[in-house]
Amino acid sequence: MQRSEIINWLRETDPGWLEDLWRLADQTRRENVGDEVHLRGLVELSNHCVRLCGYCGLRAANAGLQRYRMSDDEVLRCARQAVEFGYGTVVLQSGEDPQLTGQRMTGLIRRIKAETPLAVTLSLGERDDNELAEWRRAGADRYLLRFETSNRELYDRIHPPKADVPSAAKRRKSDRLAILETLRNLGYEVGSGVMIGIPGQTFDDLADDIELFGRLELDMIGVGPYLCHPDTPLADRRAWPDAPAGRQVPADEAMTYKVIALTRLVCPLTNIPATTALATLNTDYGREWGLVRGANVAMPNLTPPKYRILYEIYPDKACIAETGRKCQQCLSDRIKALGRRPGAGRGDSPNYHQRLAADGTSVP
Ligand code: SF4
Repeated sequence: MQRSEIINWLRETDPGWLEDLWRLADQTRRENVGDEVHLRGLVELSNHCVRLCGYCGLRAANAGLQRYRMSDDEVLRCARQAVEFGYGTVVLQSGEDPQLTGQRMTGLIRRIKAETPLAVTLSLGERDDNELAEWRRAGADRYLLRFETSNRELYDRIHPPKADVPSAAKRRKSDRLAILETLRNLGYEVGSGVMIGIPGQTFDDLADDIELFGRLELDMIGVGPYLCHPDTPLADRRAWPDAPAGRQVPADEAMTYKVIALTRLVCPLTNIPATTALATLNTDYGREWGLVRGANVAMPNLTPPKYRILYEIYPDKACIAETGRKCQQCLSDRIKALGRRPGAGRGDSPNYHQRLAADGTSVP
């Protein structure tokens, strides 16, 4: 897809024309990844974080947040529930928490792999190469690390150096694109993504992001609106101004659907979730509209409600008080109402299988 087409679609507001984009994305989804909606059981295992991302409620400096870290046994209970509900994957997500040591996570991954048939996806932030390699050897299948925006200056402004690294220069050596490359070389199924509507983000920036998705040949791509927690520096809109009038990307529902649809057209074989953030913007139909505009994955939450309420990256998250069982029933009903079906098995990314075949590597 030409860059000019991407920008034109991002700027399009006519509902009639947009129907063409939705139709094309849905058709491309059907032809390339089918009608199944893969369900990933999400476990938010710790809300501790050493980072200071300017918009996130889990940032280290947010002293008002009660912190938690689940025990391995609690995580295992969630994993067993994932099996009971028929999910093929468990996603272990947390803030960047050094107490989730390499060794501890290795033990946890081994237990899940020994006791369940689940694929294990990790989303634990920027971790060192040795840990990533060790977790892969322990059986982790996938890793999610959003690069958030391909505009480096914008990225650095809203992601200051982490709390335990005093030198900004040292921190800047951290490079998410390099980590994605490492993950790929280690044999992970690799996921990334961006935020939509960061203050200062232009349509050109967002087009760069979508083009980069294609060049990175990502196996999973999660995109979501920029949602800012009130107890953060960026809640003060004077802290980081918008791009000039007419150039700022809105952080809204329509723009999120456009990015999902364009991502499907640029990366037809990738797995794309209809995210909780989308359901937060539109509780009634956000997930469904994501699923009929290019997405093929949903992530029902398995985190026990007493912890879930504390995993407050942004406020008013959808489904905050639901039990795992209620989430499962609700999502399954919504998927069937669309004429689709919950996926069976692990739901690996067809893009991953294709690149393994191209590399001459056998499918796990
Ligand atoms: S966005 Fe992630 S890394 Fe940044 S503060 Fe929040 S949890 Fe930590």
